Amino acid sequence: MKRIRLVVVGRSNDANAYNLANNLSSIQSEFDFSVHEEMMTLPEGINTKRPVPVETLENLGQKLIADKYPGEYPVVLCECSLEGDLFSSYDDKVAVITTHGWTRKFSPYPVQSYIAYTLADVLMSFYADTPVHYKTKGCLGDYCDNKKDINIGLAKCDYCPECRALILRAVAKGTITLNQLAAIHKILDFAAQRKTCFVLMPFDKYTAPLEE
Ligand SMILES: [Zn+2]
Repeated sequence: MKRIRLVVVGRSNDANAYNLANNLSSIQSEFDFSVHEEMMTLPEGINTKRPVPVETLENLGQKLIADKYPGEYPVVLCECSLEGDLFSSYDDKVAVITTHGWTRKFSPYPVQSYIAYTLADVLMSFYADTPVHYKTKGCLGDYCDNKKDINIGLAKCDYCPECRALILRAVAKGTITLNQLAAIHKILDFAAQRKTCFVLMPFDKYTAPLEE
């Protein structure tokens, strides 16, 4: 995955998408983020007062990519509530992220941090088979049955030791390169609004807690 195309559905995420694409493209060079310039709307007949099926948005993103940007990876950024009360849904073909309900009351973190955090996991999941945690661990893999638990993950913007071990294994197997891993961590640093020096020393970072 090299080129990621943000596809905005609805009005409220337009500026978020452009700002994010600029920011994320400037802090790392492994992944290229662009925005589909035309704002999309949901297909006719979809009632936005009700949760929208994820497949509706997946199909919209995948069709656009097939028509206009062959080979790119679509990230549909929407503002509607999703069926299953999900924040996001993604696999190796398409991602859907909603900002529905992301208010100051819900989270102290800016919506851009949340989207970047989710995008980091979209990328990581593409290369490494990290699990979903149904019990909240403060990890990007958290399912967040209690939706506010995502704030626990956002406080750290990092993977748990179990996931880190799996990620290291993926590095050893060559399914993810060190440059890709470093780029994903730069996106996480952006999400966390922290300045760190994760460049090409992932092993130091990953093994440090074990040596304590
Ligand atoms: Zn984890």
